[in-house]
Formats: sequence, C-alpha cells, structure tokens
Amino acid sequence: MADDRTVELSVIIPAYNEQDSLEKLYDELNEVLSSKFDYEIIFVDDGSSDNTFNVLREIRKNDPKVRVIRFRKNFGQTAALAAGFENSCGSIVIPLDADGQNDPADIPRLVNKLNEGYDIVSGWRKKRHDNVVTRTLPSRIANWIIARITGVKLHDFGCTLKAYRWESIKEIRLYGEMHRFIPALASWGGENVAEMVVNHRPRATGKTKYGLNRTFKVILDLMTIKFLASFSTKPIYVFGGLGVLSALGAFVSGILVLYYKFVTGLAMNRNPLLFLTGLLVIASIQFILMGLLAELLVRTYHESQGRQIYVIDTILQAGDEQNST
Ligand code: UDP
Ligand code: MG
Repeated sequence: MADDRTVELSVIIPAYNEQDSLEKLYDELNEVLSSKFDYEIIFVDDGSSDNTFNVLREIRKNDPKVRVIRFRKNFGQTAALAAGFENSCGSIVIPLDADGQNDPADIPRLVNKLNEGYDIVSGWRKKRHDNVVTRTLPSRIANWIIARITGVKLHDFGCTLKAYRWESIKEIRLYGEMHRFIPALASWGGENVAEMVVNHRPRATGKTKYGLNRTFKVILDLMTIKFLASFSTKPIYVFGGLGVLSALGAFVSGILVLYYKFVTGLAMNRNPLLFLTGLLVIASIQFILMGLLAELLVRTYHESQGRQIYVIDTILQAGDEQNST
C-alpha cells in the first residue's frame, strides 16, 4: 500500500451498473473540486455488466486526475471501497456513491469540518430519499443498535459519504459489509469522529443494489467486530466463561439427580436431569477446548501479521527534542 500522500483529496467512487449517472456525477465533482483542491478521482468498476467501464474510460481519457480500477467480477461495495482506499494518494479520502445520491457540494464542508481537528467526519442523511419499508426504517433500527453496541454515537453509519484522514484508516482491513463500521473501528483505536448532516437525493437512474437482507448481514458483521474488538486478544475469557458456567450447571443438576435418588427414591435413569448433567459436562469441555483453540488462532494472527495489541500515540523519553507526533 502506497503510504506517500501526493494529493490533498482522493474521491473514491464504487460503481456497479451505474452507466447513466456517472457523467453527471463527474461534472458535478469537477465543478465543486477544480478551483478548491488538489485532488484525484478514483472510480472502481465493481464488475459491472452494463456500459459502466466504457463510460469511465471516456471520462479517464480527458482527465489525468481520474483513475479507473476495474474488478474482474462483482466483489461488492466494501471491496470496491477497499481497493479505492489502497490505491489512493490523498491525505484526505472521501468515498461517494456513484448513483448521485450523495451530493458532491458537501465535500468542501466535510473537509472544513475535518480541519477543525477531527480524523473522520461521517455524513448523516437526515432527509433520506429511499424506500421506507425496505431501507430507511430497517436502517434506523440498525443504526440505533450499532450506536448502542459500538458506543459510537452516530445517526447514520451506512452513509457512504464520509471524510477520512488517511492515517485514521490506513490500518483498517475491511470484510463483508464492513465499510460502515470504519468510524467505530477507528474510534476504538482512539481517532476523533464527528458527524455532519449531508444532502441526500433520490436515485435518478439505475436501481438500488440492496434490499432488506443487508440489514441482517450488517447485524452479523456488528457481532463480529464487537467480538473481535472486545475479546480478540483474550478469547478464552468468553469461551472459558461459558465453559465454567456449563460446568456449574452440570454440578447443580448432578447434585439434584443424587438428591432425587437418595432422598425421594427416583431412579437416576428415570430422571431427565441426568441427561442435562451429561449434556452440560460435554458442553463445558467443548467450550473450554474451543477457547484454547481460539487462543492459538489469536496468537498466530497477531504474530504472523506483526500486529500489536495496543496503539501508541506518543513516547516521551530522554534525548528526544521532537516529542509530538
Ligand atoms: N455498489 C457497488 N457494488 C455492489 C453494490 C453497490 O460498487 O455490489 C455501489 C453502487 O454502484 C453505488 C453504491 O455502491 O454507487 C451504493 O449502492 P446503492 O445506491 O445501490 O445503495 P443505496 O443507495 O440504495 O443504499
Ligand atoms: Mg444509492
């Protein structure tokens, strides 16, 4: 991943079958950016089956500031964004939808807000123009849950339009539908996150690529990142905890079985609690072994990738004149 930042802004646009909206969006971007910033625009064609790539090639021909990355097949919006991030050269990175629902006119405002001293400014589509039943309502519920669980108080995690300082995202690896969790991941790493209301427009051409099922994927991703963040260095605490609970349950139910046998005379093989005891014994062994396996995995993961379990901001020590980062 190129780490030297040669331009001020990188605008990153994942596009999947958006042939009819790209030219207008490009014109709008030009108008907003050309007089104000030193920038590049990276379009990522996410395996479109329509004319998207040809339209992008034409745009690219006339503008050296534009780069086009074409995927072999459709890998999804998160992958497209990740490819854009990895190939970007801007100190500030701004992703944007290709369908024109995000308004390029918001970019200078996001950048100003970022320059007030934030690492990430997240867009909030306060007046959202999408289907209420399949999109807006489920997304409200999902956003509420995400905010509660991550502890990061944003109203709209799903808005693509955000502004990131490169340093705040360069370490983050994306999977699944995870681009929406970048602010949460970054904020856990100590970055400053702000939110700003942005314009949202109805989709003018093409159709949406998502429906209700994305909400479920998002919730599963949320569980994954929460688990990784809370326990990725000590999984035995989770699994071992469950194992100990099961063992306690087994103990109590075993005592009950003996109690019924010797006090009330109920034969052990006629007492369903015997089965429960056996089940809990097996469960507790399984949980503890799973925890130990997970510990092995975690160690391999951290050591093979040279990952630290902490993030240092500054070190002050003798012999340093320059102490701030
Ligand atoms: N997108 C993509 N790959 C996909 C699905 C979507 O690159 O597999 C792009 C799409 O072209 C658009 C953005 O992601 O630029 C958001 O998609 P869409 O407008 O369908 O989502 P919505 O606005 O309805 O949430
Ligand atoms: Mg859209």
